Amino acid sequence: MATEVLMPRQGQSVESCIIVGWKVKEGDKVAEGQALCEVETDKATFEVPAPVAGTVLGIFYEAGADVPVLKVIAAIGAPGEDVSGLRPTTAGVRNQESEISKPVAVPVTEVKKPTPAPRLLTPENSASAEFDLIIIGAGPGGYVMAERAGHHGKKVLLIEKQYLGGVCLNWGCIPTKTLLNSAKHYVHAKEAPEFGVTTGEVKFDLTKAMAWKNEVIETLRAGIAFMMKKNKVTVVNGEAKLLGPRKVQVGDKVYEGTNVVIATGSSPFVPPIPGAKQPHVMTSTEILSIDTMPKTLTVIGGGVIGVEFASFFSSLGVQVNVIEMLEEIIPFMDREQAKEFRKALKGKVEFNLGCKVTAIDGHTVKYTTKAGEEKSIQADIVLMSVGRVPNLAGMGFEEAGLDFDRRGIKVDEQQRTNLPDVYAIGDVTGKSQLAHSATRMGEVALNTICGQRDRFRMNAIPWAVYSMPEVAGCGYTEEQAQAAGHKVKTASLPLTMSGRFLAENGKRGPGSVKVIKDADTDVLLGVHMVGAGCSEMIYGAAVMIEAELRVKDIREIVFPHPTIGEVIRDTMFQL
Ligand SMILES: Cc1cc2nc3c(=O)[nH]c(=O)nc-3n(C[C@H](O)[C@H](O)[C@H](O)COP(=O)(O)OP(=O)(O)OC[C@H]3O[C@@H](n4cnc5c(N)ncnc54)[C@H](O)[C@@H]3O)c2cc1C
Repeated sequence: MATEVLMPRQGQSVESCIIVGWKVKEGDKVAEGQALCEVETDKATFEVPAPVAGTVLGIFYEAGADVPVLKVIAAIGAPGEDVSGLRPTTAGVRNQESEISKPVAVPVTEVKKPTPAPRLLTPENSASAEFDLIIIGAGPGGYVMAERAGHHGKKVLLIEKQYLGGVCLNWGCIPTKTLLNSAKHYVHAKEAPEFGVTTGEVKFDLTKAMAWKNEVIETLRAGIAFMMKKNKVTVVNGEAKLLGPRKVQVGDKVYEGTNVVIATGSSPFVPPIPGAKQPHVMTSTEILSIDTMPKTLTVIGGGVIGVEFASFFSSLGVQVNVIEMLEEIIPFMDREQAKEFRKALKGKVEFNLGCKVTAIDGHTVKYTTKAGEEKSIQADIVLMSVGRVPNLAGMGFEEAGLDFDRRGIKVDEQQRTNLPDVYAIGDVTGKSQLAHSATRMGEVALNTICGQRDRFRMNAIPWAVYSMPEVAGCGYTEEQAQAAGHKVKTASLPLTMSGRFLAENGKRGPGSVKVIKDADTDVLLGVHMVGAGCSEMIYGAAVMIEAELRVKDIREIVFPHPTIGEVIRDTMFQL
């Protein structure tokens, strides 16, 4: 019986591969392992080997066809065997007599709908526009894209209504991590005697910590301004309005660009809870500028932002309560690790899970427990951190005919919107609210504009919570992998296995690594970590998952010793 040659599976994110060319033709004799054809994904080019020795009895797709993984692309067997039953039955099936050199129709139902050809920045179509690219919003989506495009010689206009760096630099990633670092110094100084270092009285100076945070922001802002200048990006300070494809208005001036990119980001969501509009009820923006340390803080929302602030304030002795509507904090975390993480914060932060805030009456936060009990907590400051909403209003999007809903602007995998030559990237798309996702989306959009094949993939985007302890992850959690239909195998190890971790964090330091693989293919699906320093290690997992490495390949990678990262490698041997 003839042997089927399948389009190989290249990991979880690859749904199809393009046949670049055949190296054999029907009737050829082939040895086992001999290359039959060359195929490519958007990440790699590789050869498909003959699974057995024999005669090539059928080649079912022509070069150029985009074929779903695990489809039969060819058949090998003994001369004269009938392989008609293996041929795709759809229109345009290759005739058995046809030769590889003859033009062959591709089975139409197997081929992906072609995406519209990217508009190239040629002198012809950009001649009438002042700019090759107009970018609205200078967050990590917009300014990095501007820098990269400028570096490639494009004429770029970057419009920003507030500060270069967007939320990430001014009210997000950088200020929070700067303050968390000050808190980490405080905690380390207090714990120093355990490690043989005697200190005097340890105090936290909020004014100095805030001043350092502001200095970090200003230094980095100046760095962005320098990079814009270096890459010849024109920066305009003002509020932009989209007039339609190619046209953007700022004040009374209209700019024309061959392509327009919307990178307007997101803002904190404030739910309509009675009492939410009081000065001591703050979002992440206002709390980053307080001048007096509160004695008590109630955080509404147990997501990443809420937990980072809870960790910061609790480590400085503030009494912190978190009220979360769901049954667990950080909803996208592996459930096992979320529990471990919450346990590690116990004693410092009081978690009220499955509870709903009903009103804020002065400094009293009223809430209902999952058992229906009415309760209340006193708080000097209330932090509202229940999510962020895309910035869509007042920018002419509706009038321009842009397709969006409350979650964000609708885009395809190349970040194209429904309007020709208009792209959207970052938080405003609602796809992923992370700075590095925004940057990657900008790179994908730029590559698309420049005619290069690229797409935004979500499966290997790492994330981290920079609390004490830190948590980080990349790829599927155990629950997500199961829901996606994988036969899952997992393994976990404590970080105290690492001599380095033990030396630096002590025996009590909470921490673990959990790895998840597909039991059938051995491909790594996810890595999840709790413990000091894991935000700096998780990119390694992103590399492994993006490259779709099998666990057996990862075991061959050597990690330096002594490092905490070695535990990731050790866990691979437990699978
Ligand atoms: C407290 C906090 C902590 C965070 N920590 C992290 C973290 O540790 N790691 C991480 O990856 N992410 C973190 N984030 C999320 C991260 O900040 C965002 O995902 C990221 O900033 C999104 O980038 P962006 O380019 O899409 O938009 P933004 O950074 O929001 O930038 C959008 C810019 O567009 C401008 N703009 C809007 N409308 C107009 C207009 N009409 N005309 C001109 N300009 C306009 C805005 O002024 C803004 O500067 C955090 C967020 C917060 C709030």
